Amino acid sequence: MKVAIVGGGVMGCATALALAARGADAVVLERAVPGAEASSAAAGILGAQAELHGSSRERSAPLFARAREAWGPWAQELREASGIDVGYRVSGVLRVAFSDAERAELARDVAWQQSRGLRAALLDAAAAREIEPQLAPATLAAAHFADDGQVDPPALLRALVAAAARSARIAIRSGATVQRLLLQQDRCVGVALDDGELLADAVVLAAGSWSSLVPGVPSSLPTVRPVRGQMLLLDERPPRLRTIVFGASTYAVPRGDGRVVCGTTMEHAGFRKEVTAAGLEAILAGALACVPSLGAAQFSSAWSNFRPHVEGDAPLIGASPLPGLFLATGHHRNGILLSKVTADAVAAAVLG
Ligand SMILES: Cc1cc2nc3c(=O)[nH]c(=O)nc-3n(C[C@H](O)[C@H](O)[C@H](O)COP(=O)(O)OP(=O)(O)OC[C@H]3O[C@@H](n4cnc5c(N)ncnc54)[C@H](O)[C@@H]3O)c2cc1C
Repeated sequence: MKVAIVGGGVMGCATALALAARGADAVVLERAVPGAEASSAAAGILGAQAELHGSSRERSAPLFARAREAWGPWAQELREASGIDVGYRVSGVLRVAFSDAERAELARDVAWQQSRGLRAALLDAAAAREIEPQLAPATLAAAHFADDGQVDPPALLRALVAAAARSARIAIRSGATVQRLLLQQDRCVGVALDDGELLADAVVLAAGSWSSLVPGVPSSLPTVRPVRGQMLLLDERPPRLRTIVFGASTYAVPRGDGRVVCGTTMEHAGFRKEVTAAGLEAILAGALACVPSLGAAQFSSAWSNFRPHVEGDAPLIGASPLPGLFLATGHHRNGILLSKVTADAVAAAVLG
């Protein structure tokens, strides 16, 4: 079986590997280079618990937990297949509170998670500072999600591409823009490229925030829209921060070697890939309020990219209403966390 995959982000590359592992041939069609967009821009937090909020948490909790569990073995598998360490670490997350209202909200979240059998604890300031001594003196309390972790997204994308390159079943084509889906008798039978047509037994749509813009994608599907996130990288010497710290709207993610990735914004700004003064100010103010010692770190770089968001926060995974077309898109803030379980589910759906 031959499968054409539209998009070479984490979803497209991981799905290609999952298909190849099951004996199918995959061609990844990427208009730029693999990992050019959201997948390399991410913080890489495996926030199965830190990212559980709002009305979708009941539905998301079991999927997120399963996704996080898949990561340990997959990181090992990718290291063996590519020779690249993807930076998988169970570094835990502390979500901090600076007011009684924030502490009460954390207490409710922790109680809810515990009632679902998840490991979560509400810590007073002293206990939180034992886990992370760099927390601000004004910290009142923190929720500790000890099982959440992280990977290093640029390393992950390099590993996926290297593993794919070693597979005889996978071809990755950089600079290949899919102009439209090919339809024949109400079935998707391939894709049209700049230099001709590519026929396939199945097509997987993994074009991230651009998924709804590929001509031929059924209009009945929920629209995928970009939500811009700005990020910045600090260089802390010597490395001090050990734990991922979440404030009200920002986070700081220590890689363990002095690099600390700080984020983020959530902006409806179309496809304007900008880093703004207001965005950076908000991220730095939030991060330094939680971890004042980061004020001495050196500023390295900043970037932004687009989370593929679908109304209702439900990613689009598996078969679509158009026979022959399968979906691996719309993962919004949690595409790195969900990449392995998505790839497995899509490969299983494609192969029936
Ligand atoms: C700032 C930021 C921080 C994030 N932090 C986290 C985090 O900590 N943890 C987490 O789990 N998730 C995080 N995410 C979310 C995660 O990055 C995304 O959900 C995930 O990367 C989406 O992967 P993707 O493969 O669907 O999309 P992308 O990585 O955007 O890949 C889509 C690819 O499709 C290509 N493409 C588009 N149209 C076409 C076409 N017509 N033809 C050919 N190719 C095409 C694009 O060039 C692109 O390379 C973050 C995202 C952002 C932006």
